[in-house]
Amino acid sequence: MALINCPECHKSVSDQARSCPNCGRPIKREEQRTVYVIQRANGRVEGYEEFSQLQRDGWQVISEHDEADWDGEAPFTRVVYQMRR
Ligand SMILES: [Zn+2]
Repeated sequence: MALINCPECHKSVSDQARSCPNCGRPIKREEQRTVYVIQRANGRVEGYEEFSQLQRDGWQVISEHDEADWDGEAPFTRVVYQMRR
């Protein structure tokens, strides 16, 4: 749990609180999304459109990691992005 400052009254509020106990302003938690971008052996890429759309909407990549995996006989590469507004 972390303390943040209420944007309205600037008092300390738990980031878990739904609203500020002092002034009642709703506290919006940071949204996070997970996006999987998968490159198939045949060159087809899945998930990239969603990824670039989120970036256009102002989402930031907060972490990414590559996963090598196997899909039946065809290898594919998967990149997992954690995105935050
Ligand atoms: Zn407040």
